Amino acid sequence: MDDCIIIGGGPAGLTAAIYLARFHLSVRILDCGTSRAALIPTTHNHAGFPEGIKGTDLLARMREQAEKYGALREEVRAERIEPQDGSFTVVTGNACFEARTVLLATGVFNRHPPGMDDALHDEALKRGLLRYCPICDGYEVTDKRVGVIGTSDHGMKEAIFLRGFTNDIMLISPDAEHDLDQECLDKLDGHGVKRVDGPCGDYALEGESIAVTVADGTLRFDSIYPALGSIIRSDLAVGAGAKATEEGCLEVDDHMRTSVPGLFAAGDVVLGLDQISHAMGQAGVAATTIRNELAERRSLKR
Ligand SMILES: Cc1cc2nc3c(=O)[nH]c(=O)nc-3n(C[C@H](O)[C@H](O)[C@H](O)COP(=O)(O)OP(=O)(O)OC[C@H]3O[C@@H](n4cnc5c(N)ncnc54)[C@H](O)[C@@H]3O)c2cc1C
Repeated sequence: MDDCIIIGGGPAGLTAAIYLARFHLSVRILDCGTSRAALIPTTHNHAGFPEGIKGTDLLARMREQAEKYGALREEVRAERIEPQDGSFTVVTGNACFEARTVLLATGVFNRHPPGMDDALHDEALKRGLLRYCPICDGYEVTDKRVGVIGTSDHGMKEAIFLRGFTNDIMLISPDAEHDLDQECLDKLDGHGVKRVDGPCGDYALEGESIAVTVADGTLRFDSIYPALGSIIRSDLAVGAGAKATEEGCLEVDDHMRTSVPGLFAAGDVVLGLDQISHAMGQAGVAATTIRNELAERRSLKR
């Protein structure tokens, strides 16, 4: 039986693995290899890398560090978490793993722009023509032409956040018409955010620009940010009985404990900033709490 099974090998899961392995605990990471961090062409806001670092390079360094201290990593998708009295079974396609504690660090999946071809999506992301994280890379679009695909409160907030970097912002409805109440419209007007109805489609990469066609014609931008929300990958924990918000983010206490004893969560799957630094910080807290709880259980047994 492992001391901890970590589901998810992104920045949260790998940070927890480094901490736990260095606490002399046995740790196994189950990871199906779809970290959002792997999509980052170069992160410029992650502290300690003045010239930036590619997401895949950061993950490779963290994997190396975790494995150096003895963390085991299996490239596999976890299908189910079964809580027992004081332990867990984690079921994958063809195996079962037992652990005293489980940390869920499965992240989220960003919804893509409607009708965008996968190959074009990936190429646009690589070239910074498509971006998902204004907190991370709003700086890179300073004074550029920016399109935000979204509407309602979420689209309005993303557009206004980006207004802090450029005054050339267009909020594009993903559907035929925007869904904006008067309060949203007033705020957008107050910040000088332009709007156009959709539906949007026929995306094209044209040199340094990305083009999108809406009902009125074709628009060109230096970058487009989809503001279409995310799918929170919390179903395994919810299936094991953990409480989640309406959107699906796992609810945790200050020590990253879910509502199921022994089941912890960290990173984007928990309500928070959706940043590497936050994922790492939460994982450090979770790992230290796991260590302390296991030490307590062992001392009670003596
Ligand atoms: C384009 C882009 C640019 C970004 N730029 C930055 C930036 O510059 N700075 C910054 O701080 N943040 C940035 N972010 C956000 C950052 O990537 C995330 O906040 C971070 O990756 C969250 O880490 P995590 O470990 O919680 O989740 P993730 O990194 O998404 O990792 C989750 C892991 O769980 C695994 N998993 C999921 N379900 C299962 C399962 N059932 N079984 C096994 N494994 C599973 C996945 O395969 C994945 O490896 C960016 C995000 C995107 C999309």
